[in-house]
Amino acid sequence: MQNITILGSTGSIGTSTLDVVERHPERFRVFALTAYRQVDVLFEQCVRFQPKYAVLLDAAAVAEMRDRVRAAGLNTEVLSGVDALEQVCVDAGVDAVMAAIVGAAGLRPTLAAARAGKKILLANKETLVMAGNVFMDAVRASGSALLPIDSEHNAIFQALPRGYDGNMQTHGVRRILLTASGGPFRDTPLSGLQNVTPEQACAHPNWVMGRKISVDSASMMNKGLEVIEAHWLFNAGADDIQVLVHPQSVIHSLVEYVDGSVLAQLGNPDMRTPIAYGLAYPERIDSGVAALDLLKVASMDFVAPDFARFPCLGLAYAALRAAGTAPAILNAANEVAVEAFLNKQIAFPAIPQVIETVLNQLPVCAVHDLDDVLEADAQARLAARAQLGR
Ligand code: NAD
Ligand code: MG
Repeated sequence: MQNITILGSTGSIGTSTLDVVERHPERFRVFALTAYRQVDVLFEQCVRFQPKYAVLLDAAAVAEMRDRVRAAGLNTEVLSGVDALEQVCVDAGVDAVMAAIVGAAGLRPTLAAARAGKKILLANKETLVMAGNVFMDAVRASGSALLPIDSEHNAIFQALPRGYDGNMQTHGVRRILLTASGGPFRDTPLSGLQNVTPEQACAHPNWVMGRKISVDSASMMNKGLEVIEAHWLFNAGADDIQVLVHPQSVIHSLVEYVDGSVLAQLGNPDMRTPIAYGLAYPERIDSGVAALDLLKVASMDFVAPDFARFPCLGLAYAALRAAGTAPAILNAANEVAVEAFLNKQIAFPAIPQVIETVLNQLPVCAVHDLDDVLEADAQARLAARAQLGR
């Protein structure tokens, strides 16, 4: 029996995780569920899964949740705050942590889980983008099992040899091919991007996701963050990772070997597949995902990414090459810019402009510990907000 904490249980990844967990009551028990402030969804999840703890960040939501849990006679203790997020990750009763909070807020609890040696199902790519070396050092030091949940990285993990230790050369790996759908604006005339709305940006052709990652997909910053994520997970350099636009989202990524073999993982675009893989690894379990019908897919296309249309992708590669705090600066500026776009304060093409200006403004420093990362994150947010006049 695996006892699981799900960080961000009310989100897209969180609810997909619970869907898989519910199919296998003999394998998984929910230890803790967490959310920012979605009381209704979290309460319903507590009724269904009877976790030991439920954590909320928003004070008003905590009070309401306590009332409802008491009235319903549930045995769930309601906790609040960032410290509580860490507490439900490091508790001796936890075997695995699904890291599915969105953005920089996921970093602290995910890192705490790594330091405590828990099995980590990593959806929160921002943890690796911001603090890749700190996090990977913690994983290695504690012996955590790290399972990538991002569909591309899960695909690469599956296509790499079992026991891959981060040395591409000794394993005969030549390149990693990271597929991208190209998002909703792949074919939008460039002049039209100025007027696209948050609703259009969030209407992804193939995947249903949270709003932040949906905008990232539309700008291809998501793929940029994933290049950095792949760098840390698989110890691959910027030149070893090639982005391939594949609009059907059936091939979730590929690994090219020196003998000319290319191994891919395919499936319907449904996050329950990588989630089930991570939950049961090294076994395979039913995920609820329909079988892939290749006759229905019929054909698959591949094109090179358009760096002029999607400047965020180039900015991410540049930040990876600059190393140190550059990816943390990129991530923080992106979070501020995306929020401003979602709030209709800036136009879509302003997102990369804000990020580029912040990257040019701030010095890149070496990352020795978490404080270096948090400092860069704070500085970049200030610089980005200053540009937005806030
Ligand atoms: P989402 O917006 O649907 O859900 C986010 C969750 O985090 C919610 O439960 C929310 O309550 C919680 N949360 C938000 N802000 C918080 C804060 N400040 N403190 C604590 N909790 C907070 O997001 P999502 O689409 O499920 O994505 C979650 C993570 O998984 C992201 O890092 C994303 O990049 C990654 N990811 C998502 C998908 C996908 O298909 N949705 C695929 C790959 C990777
Ligand atoms: Mg992905």
